[in-house]
Amino acid sequence: MSIEITEKCINCGACELECPNQAIYEGGKKWRMSDGTSLKKNEILDPTIFQEPKKKDIYFIVSEKCTECVGFYEEPQCIIVCPVQCCIPDTKNYENKKDLLKKKNFLHGNLS
Ligand code: SF4
Ligand code: SF4
Repeated sequence: MSIEITEKCINCGACELECPNQAIYEGGKKWRMSDGTSLKKNEILDPTIFQEPKKKDIYFIVSEKCTECVGFYEEPQCIIVCPVQCCIPDTKNYENKKDLLKKKNFLHGNLS
């Protein structure tokens, strides 16, 4: 499953720097699937289109890009670095390890 950020976030920005998928954005920022990934525009999808922010006032995680750090690290890096423990498993977006690896390969091709 992906990770989500709770209302306890103090907007320190530490997690954003650690995410290997650039799945974490500051509140109010637009995001793109192509940010920090190797996704390119093709006939079926355009990952360079800016999407509306998921949160206005606190940092948010784009579940479509979060792989729980699978393929890069043993543990979710945002959970490790967050000083106020507000990065938690998002139970609404359950994915097993195989799905997460598939997502990582989709986002980055064969790069690791
Ligand atoms: Fe990014 Fe990893 Fe946190 Fe997901 S778990 S948001 S991939 S740092
Ligand atoms: Fe918010 Fe924690 Fe990320 Fe800091 S590390 S921006 S407190 S979620």
